[in-house]
Amino acid sequence: MSTADQSSPQSAVTCANCQACCCRLEVMLITDTGVPERFIETDKWGGETMARLDDGWCSALDRTTMLCTIYEQRPWVCRAFAMGGHECLAERAEHL
Ligand code: SF4
Ligand code: SF4
Repeated sequence: MSTADQSSPQSAVTCANCQACCCRLEVMLITDTGVPERFIETDKWGGETMARLDDGWCSALDRTTMLCTIYEQRPWVCRAFAMGGHECLAERAEHL
């Protein structure tokens, strides 16, 4: 018999019960990981970030599956983002 604890599916922090909250954050491109040009925004100083659409999410996010469409080429910042970390919990608290 299972007990209701923090590992229950309802309370676990996992991307499966999220809505890509972290894909609303500004993502700077620090290294070249092969992100297609159409997803990149360049500011007047030459700084590159992932372009976001009017709904607030990254332009590379599939709005139906809420999954990254360029996962193999995703920026370093996205690779380093820790599920369950401070920023992840803050984004979930704000948007879920
Ligand atoms: S905010 Fe956290 S749980 Fe949600 S998609 Fe991002 S890493 Fe996953
Ligand atoms: S590149 Fe992919 S993982 Fe990174 S913010 Fe955009 S959709 Fe999310």
